[in-house]
Amino acid sequence: MQAEIKIGVSSCLLGNPVRYDGGHKHDRYITDTLGKYFKFVPVCPEVECGLPVPREAMRLVGDIENPRLLTSRSGQDYTEQMQQFSARKVEELEKMNLCGFIFKKDSPSSGLFRVKVYPPSGQSSLKVGRGFFAAAMAERFPQLPMEEEGRLHDPLIRENFLEHVFSYRRWRDFLEDRPDYKKLIAFHTRQKLLLMAHSPPHYAILGKLVASGKKQPKKQLLEDYEIKYMDALSNFSSIKKHTNVMQHIMGYFKDRITPDEKQELLELIWNYREGLVPLTVPLTLINHYVRKYDTAYLKKQVYLSPHPAELMLRNHV
Ligand code: SF4
Repeated sequence: MQAEIKIGVSSCLLGNPVRYDGGHKHDRYITDTLGKYFKFVPVCPEVECGLPVPREAMRLVGDIENPRLLTSRSGQDYTEQMQQFSARKVEELEKMNLCGFIFKKDSPSSGLFRVKVYPPSGQSSLKVGRGFFAAAMAERFPQLPMEEEGRLHDPLIRENFLEHVFSYRRWRDFLEDRPDYKKLIAFHTRQKLLLMAHSPPHYAILGKLVASGKKQPKKQLLEDYEIKYMDALSNFSSIKKHTNVMQHIMGYFKDRITPDEKQELLELIWNYREGLVPLTVPLTLINHYVRKYDTAYLKKQVYLSPHPAELMLRNHV
């Protein structure tokens, strides 16, 4: 990584007292763990669109496709105010080169998934909406990795989101280093196993795109590559996909490792597949063999070290 990694975060998650009741929703995993690797760009849509602290709580009301943003008790309508703010803010954030965004769940302004939308009649709510600012972000930056803080407590979601963020930063680093066709081939070669671990179909599509890319205008080629690359990484990796990748990796050692070493690695991959050990266990042995047998192709694979080991993203079963 060459540059700092900026991610947007709902401001209350950083401990800022911006909630309607004057409180916050400080998330220590975000500030204490992720804070060592990322530079945060805090956003509180409700305060930044001009509302005070404290203020009346708000909710989404009305048509699921087209809800309004109303205060819960007095029904004051802030829809236009929030829409205008969101349109301005996404333009401002465009210049900040964010590599991801973590939203506060359930918020009518910041929630990304399944935010309650209340029918005007006051019947029970349906959890199907999206907060106004989160919706504007998702529309303006469809490739940007985005998650909610609640879902980040799930180790699989956390691993995939953060892998996506680091991958996006790698792509931005590549773009900032005067990219050309030869450099794209080298970039793609380093990502191959990571892509395979997320989406074998995208791995094949991107391979074809790069192979035939010399005939394409560079700008178009890079735009097409970015869309497919980010699409690939938005697919979750899985035990089955990782197992396939590790079996593929074994092919690079097969004439070099001893029968005992091969047996040991096969057992660890099997244990991983059965949910007995985390991914980091077979990968630690693979990394050992990569160093021991000086396997040039594997040494360059991002898959073997896609994010800082200290984040322990591959330590869950
Ligand atoms: S959820 Fe969003 S709008 Fe509400 S306090 Fe947090 S940052 Fe502000």
